[in-house]
Amino acid sequence: MSAQPAPEDPLDVFEAFLKRKGLKMTEQRRTMVATVLEHDGHFTAVDAHERLRSAGEPVSLATVYRALGLLEEAGILEGHDFADGQRRYERALTREHHDHLICLDCRAVVEFQNPAIEELQDKVLKDHGFTMVHHALTIFASCGALRQTGTCARRDAERRTSGRGTAKRP
Ligand SMILES: [Zn+2]
Ligand SMILES: [Zn+2]
Repeated sequence: MSAQPAPEDPLDVFEAFLKRKGLKMTEQRRTMVATVLEHDGHFTAVDAHERLRSAGEPVSLATVYRALGLLEEAGILEGHDFADGQRRYERALTREHHDHLICLDCRAVVEFQNPAIEELQDKVLKDHGFTMVHHALTIFASCGALRQTGTCARRDAERRTSGRGTAKRP
């Protein structure tokens, strides 16, 4: 992060970031940023790759992985480990901070904002004399459907389509 106020246009942010790293903004990188930012929720490298291919962009999966890594480093995307072996990304720039609740039975992902939790975190930082750079809170849980009814429709749907990661996600 530079000391100047950050420009909010993702392309400007990315270009400035690349420059600091001695990398160039290319037409392909430009397209990748625009396409990747079209994703509404959480997505994997495979999802982003599929979207780019169907938009007629002939990129390799390895290139997509590299680009997502750079976009995360630049603070344009946020990466999460939801404990299913696939890193998930979402837009970070121009979005309000939120935390996540993950159901380990059916993989439901719930986004939440809780001012009391945020305040407590600030207090913990203050108590330790630390300054927040970034934080992510992910709670792994059970949504209750399986426990209460013995079945979970979301989990069954996930299993039916279980070519890993191809199931429809919230
Ligand atoms: Zn569940
Ligand atoms: Zn999220």
